[in-house]
Amino acid sequence: MRVTVWNENRHEQKNPKVQAIYPQGIHEAIAAPLRQAGLEVRTATLDQPQHGLGGQVLDNTEVLFWWGHLAHGEVSDLLVEQVRQRVLEGMGLVVLHSGHFSKIFKALMGTSCDLKWREADDVERLWVVAPGHPIVEGLGEYLELPAEEMYGEHFDVPEPDELVLVSWFSGGEVFRSGLCYTRGRGRIFYFRPGHETYPTYHHPGVQQILLGAARWAAATPGPKPVRGHYPTLRPPK
Ligand code: ZN
Repeated sequence: MRVTVWNENRHEQKNPKVQAIYPQGIHEAIAAPLRQAGLEVRTATLDQPQHGLGGQVLDNTEVLFWWGHLAHGEVSDLLVEQVRQRVLEGMGLVVLHSGHFSKIFKALMGTSCDLKWREADDVERLWVVAPGHPIVEGLGEYLELPAEEMYGEHFDVPEPDELVLVSWFSGGEVFRSGLCYTRGRGRIFYFRPGHETYPTYHHPGVQQILLGAARWAAATPGPKPVRGHYPTLRPPK
């Protein structure tokens, strides 16, 4: 399976705390365990030419991971449209954490994608609410992160096709933190954790969920649908 992990890669350049946690960048921390699991993974970042997604990269990507925060506005509208088209054609998309405000996620959802937030070292407990779902295969009843940014409801997104994870925060809020959608032939998974100042992507349970998400999002079974003007299937008289 061919995966591309896209990261804005800006916090890593300017915040020593983030550098210390992710010396190779968030993208490499996400990519490494996927590679270990046997997936073919490349990475791409905002400041590369064409944001690292030019040429045949998108055509050769079965699942695209997306981490962005500071610079959603700098992502080219043309690229966003190309990504959207690829999703409709069947490319999987895994949107991470602050990617909820990315142009691509908002374009695919059609809503504001706004939410509550707080940076206060809340404990986050992610409850599996779809036991047996392939994304959470092998996981227990819940996963606990000792410190994370809080995201709270209401999360302004359309009703998901499947709700896989719900987060509880020690401050009292709850959040739908693992959401499955389909758009066209493409599968989309939104996964909440991953604030840049916490080592969330080094957590084995989080890595397991991201591997499950890659495998789930890549699957687009069935033939390509035929649309448009269509000649009769009845034999001529
Ligand atoms: Zn954050």
